[in-house]
Amino acid sequence: MLLVMERDATAAQVEAAVRRIGEMGLEARVLAGPVRTTIAVLGSSGSVDAARFADLAGIREAVPVSEPYRQASREVHPENTVIALPGGASVGGDEVVVMAGPCAVESEALILETARLVRDAGATVLRGGAFKPRTSPYSFQGLGEPALHWLARARAETGLAVATEVLEVESVELVARYADILQVGARNMQNFPLLRAVGRTGKPVLLKRGYAATVTELLLAAEYVLAEGNPHVILCERGVRGFDGASRFLLDLNAISQVHRLSHLPIIADPSHGTGQRSAVPAMARAAVAAGADGLLVEVHPAPERALSDGLQTITPAKFSEMMRQCRAIAKVIGRRIAEGQ
Ligand code: PEP
Ligand code: MN
Repeated sequence: MLLVMERDATAAQVEAAVRRIGEMGLEARVLAGPVRTTIAVLGSSGSVDAARFADLAGIREAVPVSEPYRQASREVHPENTVIALPGGASVGGDEVVVMAGPCAVESEALILETARLVRDAGATVLRGGAFKPRTSPYSFQGLGEPALHWLARARAETGLAVATEVLEVESVELVARYADILQVGARNMQNFPLLRAVGRTGKPVLLKRGYAATVTELLLAAEYVLAEGNPHVILCERGVRGFDGASRFLLDLNAISQVHRLSHLPIIADPSHGTGQRSAVPAMARAAVAAGADGLLVEVHPAPERALSDGLQTITPAKFSEMMRQCRAIAKVIGRRIAEGQ
């Protein structure tokens, strides 16, 4: 951190700041400039709390020089993190990994059918919720454990890896027995005990950005998983609240480049929740691949109009197949490729 003093700061005020830094167990280096004095605060292993200087006179600004997250930071870890998935695909390298399936697992037959359809169209990961975080307690909440069995069955039949959401600390162990990727939803992005618990499993974690969370908050949430010794974090941009009711959420494609600049962790895009609107999904998927997304998370259902959740933003297998063809062409232009199954 740098403490920038006021132009008319007195020597006593500079000394008081230096003393406070010493009291914090840190080292102060005073840089006397022609116009003002700046004090570099050195030797901290985490971020320095600016509030510790708030009561001192003569300080104009406390400027952080490093990011508040450490393990998620590209400064600390310049190389991209590449996460290998069962089935051979990997997230964070040249491949763009497509995860597709219904919002919720609705029956064994339906998840098997959808798994085959999305695999044939080129997806490498099957998504589907067994435990659903619904805005209303009266909405369909998911079928729970039986749905996990059906997902495992779909994996065995299709070779797709399985991503499914874990809602609470108590079910981490159960979900981790079935899932290849543990999804932490937008509403749980700052559920810190849950982040720690999925961190302890060591399994890949798909961490969705809260819809009112900043990129810094997303990376700090990832830091909780990393701090448990689990380096396998896949971030997901899934849309933030906008001011315009024309679409349910605003897919923040800029977050993809911000995350790539600030962090080595892969980030995928979810054009389904990111728009809330079926007609917008293929265009936003294409745009996300063009923007450098390391993958896509897309809701697909054989009959979206009958889906028990998120039908309005869910596309048909035929639309998904067409979207995949377009995304393959876009990936190629930017020197990437859509991950293929084995
Ligand atoms: C989902 O992926 O079905 C989901 C509930 O997403 P989010 O947490 O982004 O709302
Ligand atoms: Mn959904």
